[in-house]
Amino acid sequence: MNDEPDITRRGIMLVLSSPSGAGKTTLTRNLLERENIDYPGKLTLSISATTRQKRPSEIEGTHYYFVTKTRFEAMRDHGELLEWAEVHGNYYGTPREPVERALSEGRDVLFDIDWQGTRQLIEKMRDDVVTVFVLPPTAQDLKSRLVRRAEDSEAVIAQRLRNAAEEFQHWNEYDYILVNRDLQKSFERLRAILTAERLKRVKMPNLNDFVDKLLTELKALTP
Ligand code: 5GP
Repeated sequence: MNDEPDITRRGIMLVLSSPSGAGKTTLTRNLLERENIDYPGKLTLSISATTRQKRPSEIEGTHYYFVTKTRFEAMRDHGELLEWAEVHGNYYGTPREPVERALSEGRDVLFDIDWQGTRQLIEKMRDDVVTVFVLPPTAQDLKSRLVRRAEDSEAVIAQRLRNAAEEFQHWNEYDYILVNRDLQKSFERLRAILTAERLKRVKMPNLNDFVDKLLTELKALTP
């Protein structure tokens, strides 16, 4: 793990995509909670801007920045978004500045974005991006979760089911696939992905210095 003070690194962009209702939001929340216990401040969630209506349970600035279409277009046109896409008839985009700041400070950033946004991040920042696609075990399971959530109207649920078919087709553009049969297992697998990605040699630019220091120490200890 990268918790030794001598080893610094650039952060990871961990991207999670799936059709609505595959359990991605729960996985995201669980990962953030658990990571914050083990490594406080190491993983942050990228809060997107959206033109979609706020759901009753959502909090401005926590789940999304809810903005007007005009404001969104201004952000997009001024280069303030790292990526953006139209999803289910609304605009969604990732504010650039918080992500760049986190990465340069060696913090990892979690993204809950669709395949269109993922493609843009891969094009721009391939070396920083790790992508995970979450699939539901069955189509019925997906529908049940959407209905159980009960925060969207029937028309919205129907549109999300139709869009799921398109989203599914992009699974093969991702680095890792999780079939979410069991939430706890999927969560453990997601953590394993993050842990392994953090340990990659290329993610530790100062490793040379660290090993040099080890060698010096070793020489001092060698009779
Ligand atoms: P929801 O409206 O259910 O919160 O999100 C709908 C879809 O938009 C989800 O698949 C979510 O991953 C995607 N999404 C949320 N924020 C962004 C974003 O900033 N960029 C892109 N490209 N997709 C996003």
